[in-house]
Amino acid sequence: NSPSIVLNVNGIEVIYNHVILVLKGVSLQVAQGQIVALLGGNGAGKTTTLRAISNLLRAERGEVTKGSIALREERIENLTPADLVKRGVVQVMEGRHCFAHLTIEENLLAGAYILKSQAQISANLEKVYAYFPRLKTRRTSQAAYTSGGEQQMCAIGRALMSNPSVMLLDEPSMGLAPQIVEEVFEIIKDLNQKEGVTFLVAEQNTNMALQYADYGYIMESGRIVMDGAAAELRNNEDVKEFYLGMG
Ligand code: ATP
Repeated sequence: NSPSIVLNVNGIEVIYNHVILVLKGVSLQVAQGQIVALLGGNGAGKTTTLRAISNLLRAERGEVTKGSIALREERIENLTPADLVKRGVVQVMEGRHCFAHLTIEENLLAGAYILKSQAQISANLEKVYAYFPRLKTRRTSQAAYTSGGEQQMCAIGRALMSNPSVMLLDEPSMGLAPQIVEEVFEIIKDLNQKEGVTFLVAEQNTNMALQYADYGYIMESGRIVMDGAAAELRNNEDVKEFYLGMG
């Protein structure tokens, strides 16, 4: 009884500026209810893969030139990011991207733009605060004056406000102290287990990501070079030698 596939990326090529071939045939699958880690060093192509899935390449002058991307049974290459949010797919971009001049609560409310019901918005806000108690205590603070960890939580919390079933996270650990990284990953695990959210997490912090993921893909120079169950990858000698020191 294998779990159903939510995201199916099949042989995609991505070219920036019409000439720079960055993804050279990337295939990966994310099963319902899993946390899948997309690993690899700087410039391996993790961000580009996430942008291809959530259709955010155009702003970067990039395009998918080969292959296909499906959400459950539906091809999604031609959907807008807003269409994807309506289908339950949200991306949390690298570098957190909170609105610096808005308060934490205003940032969270901005994530609820697709919801019409005020009751639903209030309920989601309470849910976010239950998962991120730190955000509740900082709700009236301007995002610019909160810590890096709080801003990362705010970015994830804002994405949660739209009731996603699939979250794409780009380097949630970036720039955070190890203890805060662990706190963020614990919340990811909770959201996965209690809310049933499926995650695709791009990370350079292989060690942390493989502790929480079910499955992992390792990228190098625009290709997947290895994949397997997280427990297997953690014990793989090549992974230990080349990747476990990173992050
Ligand atoms: P990082 O952790 O640095 O974000 P990454 O694995 O996410 O690394 P990408 O950001 O996807 O890697 O970058 C993959 C390659 O594509 C790199 O060589 C990068 O220089 C190149 N690249 C990324 N964005 C663009 C762009 N807008 N135009 C041209 N090349 C780009």
